[in-house]
Amino acid sequence: MNNEKIWLSSPHMGPNEQKFVDEAFATNWVAPVGPHVNAFEEDLRLYTGSYAAVLSNGTAALHLGLILLDVKRDDYVLCQSMTFSASANPIVYQGAIPVFIDSEETTWNMCPKALREAIERCISGRLERPDGTLLPAKKPKAILPVHLYGMPAQMDEIVGIAKEYDIPILEDAAEALGSHIDNKSCGTFGEIGVLSFNGNKIITTSSGGAMISHSSELVEKARFLSTQARDAAPHYQHSHIGYNYRMSNVLAGIGRGQMQVLPDRVAARRANYERYRSLLSDVEGIGWVHEPKGYFSNRWLSTVLIDPAKTNGVSRETVRLALEKDNIEARPLWKPMHMQPIFSEAPYVGESVAENLFEQGLCLPSGSNLTDEDFVRIFAALKKVFSL
Ligand SMILES: *Cc1c(COP(=O)(O)O)cnc(C)c1O
Repeated sequence: MNNEKIWLSSPHMGPNEQKFVDEAFATNWVAPVGPHVNAFEEDLRLYTGSYAAVLSNGTAALHLGLILLDVKRDDYVLCQSMTFSASANPIVYQGAIPVFIDSEETTWNMCPKALREAIERCISGRLERPDGTLLPAKKPKAILPVHLYGMPAQMDEIVGIAKEYDIPILEDAAEALGSHIDNKSCGTFGEIGVLSFNGNKIITTSSGGAMISHSSELVEKARFLSTQARDAAPHYQHSHIGYNYRMSNVLAGIGRGQMQVLPDRVAARRANYERYRSLLSDVEGIGWVHEPKGYFSNRWLSTVLIDPAKTNGVSRETVRLALEKDNIEARPLWKPMHMQPIFSEAPYVGESVAENLFEQGLCLPSGSNLTDEDFVRIFAALKKVFSL
């Protein structure tokens, strides 16, 4: 039997990406400016309903988002703990302090209760580091929820709390292009949203990202800051610190092609999830992330929880290693930021929901380009480990 590597999530090109790239070469728009850049932004605007600035990557988009929300040294940013480090690192680029927030058990994203508790602690001077050091009383500067694995966070409650305390939201929708709540796209609930087109995401430009917003003014500012903050003058004149964060016109061409196939990619990822679900739904000790009514996940990655107390000792590591043996890639869920060595001094508010998700959670191969043959191999390995 063929033993080629089955990846967790690999790039999947459609029929037209190469044509757009060739067009960039033919017209010599091989630069971080050009018609594909503008057209890709327009595609994103039509799809999400928000203005878009396309950038070099999602991390850069998060960084500019924090800058535009005026996050500065020693400010507090309330950040979902259960996420990829790229959500939190830009907070530190700004010299601000990440305050990590636990997840809730339904969507695995930012827990509204813990969020409210964190805001109250920040305001009243009850926020502490893990060693007990108290931090000064201050209103947080931003709330940073994440739509993990494509599942929308509980934005109704989170937006409600943000409005009540008048704190802006920077939404990390890097994994959630194509996800929505009541047909409102992830990334459009807060002041600013962030998308990623990294190689492993639901669509890719090899690397790339976007900052989106209902405010055309904020998006225009992102374009300005991402192109070295050049003032309107014939010479190089600067009244701001700039960044070199703009997307290349060549890569924007790939993005235009990928936008044409995005609905197919979402359908394929959701179909993957259904396949896993039907195989494993009767296995004792297997848990799933829930898609509440009105919520729609792009199912970027198919994830399962494995409780070894109920599976005769089969843990997520047992399953991961069994898949690895057959050259099939699977990964534990994101390790929460408050458990990371680099953030060991950062304040954390919540209980142990995120920690338990990390202990028990596994991401299964989820590419939109998985073949029936791939699934035969994956299922054979899963059946063996669960004695199905
Ligand atoms: C991928 C990802 C990012 C970063 O995007 P890049 O384009 O890789 O810089 C940020 N947050 C989350 C949750 C991600 O999954």
